[in-house]
Amino acid sequence: MIKKLFQRVFRKPAQVRVEGKCHIIPFGVHGVGSDGISSAARRVTDGLQAAGYKAFVVGGAVRDLLLGRHPKDFDIATNATPEDVRRVFRRSRIIGRRFRLVHVMFGEEVVETSTFRRMIEAEDAETDEHGRLLRDNEFGDQEQDAARRDFTANALFYDPATQEIFDYHDGYADTRANILRVIGDPAVRYREDPVRMLRAVRLSAKLGMQLDAATAAPIFGMKELLGNVPQARLLDEMLKLLLSGHAVECVKKLREMDLHHGLLPMLDVILEQPMGEKFVMLALQNTDQRISEEKSVSPAFLFAALLWHEVLSAWKILQETGERPVAALHAAMDEVLNRQREQLSIPRRYDAIMKELWLLQPRFEQRGGQRPVRLLSQPRFRAAFDFLLLRCESGEVDADLGLWWDEFQDASDERRAEMLQPDEVPKKRRRRKKSGTADKPAAEDQPDEAVQIALPIE
Ligand code: ATP
Ligand code: MG
Repeated sequence: MIKKLFQRVFRKPAQVRVEGKCHIIPFGVHGVGSDGISSAARRVTDGLQAAGYKAFVVGGAVRDLLLGRHPKDFDIATNATPEDVRRVFRRSRIIGRRFRLVHVMFGEEVVETSTFRRMIEAEDAETDEHGRLLRDNEFGDQEQDAARRDFTANALFYDPATQEIFDYHDGYADTRANILRVIGDPAVRYREDPVRMLRAVRLSAKLGMQLDAATAAPIFGMKELLGNVPQARLLDEMLKLLLSGHAVECVKKLREMDLHHGLLPMLDVILEQPMGEKFVMLALQNTDQRISEEKSVSPAFLFAALLWHEVLSAWKILQETGERPVAALHAAMDEVLNRQREQLSIPRRYDAIMKELWLLQPRFEQRGGQRPVRLLSQPRFRAAFDFLLLRCESGEVDADLGLWWDEFQDASDERRAEMLQPDEVPKKRRRRKKSGTADKPAAEDQPDEAVQIALPIE
């Protein structure tokens, strides 16, 4: 008893050890317990270590734990090759061509496990004419793996067995001070991979971290380099940004840094039409809110919202040239999607849903006869109604329309009958032959000349 008390009073305080360039920070200093690590990730590090390899939780998860946030996933870094990892875990598969990773499966959870890799030395590096690295897939050691990462906060290794953090670039101090700092010379690192500029903006907005002055400074002058990044990668990054749960802050920050201009056509579309800006900001807010409530968000819904005001103005112009509303809407949708595709290509698999959401909008105006009931039975009704609510909130259409539909969908048959407005569609038109395809609903379900179509007031 006395011995224990003695030990407690005179125990040496936890201390950071230095081994070469690495600072090893014990649990007593950082306080991140291994209970914050998912059991699947823990099984991967334990399994690899038992087989004689080094294995750590790395990157975003360690940073998030230090910031007191819930990591969205746990990545593992190891000195085992992909084949070694496969041998240790039967339920795993090697993925990726550019750099081979292993997905280790435990029930629902997939743990991405990558072998330490190094940045290829300048003279051996394969780059494009602007200095962008085309290949960085060489195995390396732990120190090299830290150096090839983007930010100091993203280069920390955590060993769940010893609860120690391995830090080669003062990432621990930066994370504690809430600073996001590029490893090495920021201008060089942005030239190697311009997407890091977008990552700087996204991560600082998402995590509420301050961008270090030297990290922020070159961005303004180097933003044109984003133009050389393959479209698919840019789209990936934009999706991460829009679905980060902090889309509003991210977009504000991109705008502050003038990163949206000319480079990311999608954002130009978003922010440079005053009428659409309010709608788009509401759509982003709504997405952030849904993510914070752990509800699903659909990229197609978001893209449909981002492009809605483009569709509206094209639709309006086409109607003014004498085109009938339905035909004009179809033409407007195709025009906007084609124009967008020349810039940042939204995957075609989203087209059908986006078109459906847009085509259903004018149908909310029709509140007579059987039409509202038919609209309720549309499989995409819920999403289309959410879209309508955003339009109401932004002031594009009358709020009463949203309220009417809110009540109508849950009302009793008697109440519905009371709510229905007189059917103004001439009988002759209603008997028109049905000709529907999946993309184009039957003629009578579409808005036609007899239907008042709400166009935004400019
Ligand atoms: P998030 O929480 O959004 O997933 P993250 O930092 O984990 O953030 P990932 O895209 O999952 O981001 O990347 C995992 C890790 O890979 C990063 O923490 C970083 O160490 C490294 N990394 C990712 N992209 C780059 C890049 N472009 N250049 C250098 N290192 C990168
Ligand atoms: Mg991650």
